[in-house]
Amino acid sequence: MRAITVIPGDTQSAELIDLPEPKPKDGELLVEPLYLGVCGTDREILDGAHGEPPQGHERLVLGHELLGRVSEAGGGLDAGQLVAGIVRRPDPVPCACCAMGEWDMCRNGKYTERGIKALDGYGAELVTIEEDFAIPVPDDLGTLGVLTEPSSILAKAWEQIDRIATRACSVHERVLVTGAGPIGLLAALMGVQRELEVHVLDRATDGIKPEVVAALGAKYHTGEITEVAEHCQPDIVVECTGVAELVASAMQHTAPGAIVCLTGVAASRNLSVDVGALNNELVLENDVVFGSVNANRRHFEQAVEALRKADPDWLRRLITRTVPLDNWSEALEKGDDDIKVVVEFSRR
Ligand code: BGC
Repeated sequence: MRAITVIPGDTQSAELIDLPEPKPKDGELLVEPLYLGVCGTDREILDGAHGEPPQGHERLVLGHELLGRVSEAGGGLDAGQLVAGIVRRPDPVPCACCAMGEWDMCRNGKYTERGIKALDGYGAELVTIEEDFAIPVPDDLGTLGVLTEPSSILAKAWEQIDRIATRACSVHERVLVTGAGPIGLLAALMGVQRELEVHVLDRATDGIKPEVVAALGAKYHTGEITEVAEHCQPDIVVECTGVAELVASAMQHTAPGAIVCLTGVAASRNLSVDVGALNNELVLENDVVFGSVNANRRHFEQAVEALRKADPDWLRRLITRTVPLDNWSEALEKGDDDIKVVVEFSRR
């Protein structure tokens, strides 16, 4: 079977290679991938900035945004059932969070991640998944189930926002999402599903991004975050770019009592920031800034629910390109108008 592989740290090593088919162990499902989404993390791994192969291996099988089909029944799932695969596995110690199934909050960094950190990913023509780490995706979602993993990241982020919001005396009403990529748009979708006033800021002045934001009933903005924030006075910010300037500004231009959720990974960058002014903004306005990564099983289930509630035509527009496995590397090239690009698997 063919698998998308890379030697982490070696930027010239990405290759579709033949590997022996995996044999499911007790408690594991054999799953046939149908679609695999690609994201910034995959690009970082190919750029040599991230990623770790399984112990004793040179290559890592890439891919963590899976929609697959169970090929042999198991774990209460029938053959043919669509599934998404959870990315992270708890650390072996385990820390208090991993012990509770909250591996997304792992305290000691010893967790592993399919296709990212010390575990082969889902980018192969056959994969195994432990039964507890396969999330059933209803047939009515079909191909759109490939959005489950990125949606789980936002389900976790929004769950944390909702928890933090309980300390306030009044409800939060206006959210500013920075970045109209897949993460930003799914953040906006979940903001709209919470009946909030949603604003999305992105660089693109035309193309599909303004259209899909408008179709969601949210407001699209380009230009300076300072002006946009001045205009919309967000009491929730979901930062989805990891661009240092935006991260710094996102924390500073909010309504009092704001919750700022950072979801992007920033490239190392020296920036001159007035830390005193930033401190005063956070202190004097009781703001909360927090980071959010990964997702546990509950968030994957919430993600499936959020996708089911969404307009399928709207979700379909987020998948801007589908690339066959043979041309998988094209999926990693970023077109100006790309939102989510997926690799399609069809077994030979
Ligand atoms: C994945 C997360 C993962 C993170 C860091 C993201 O792209 O969606 O599941 O925890 O990368 O490795």
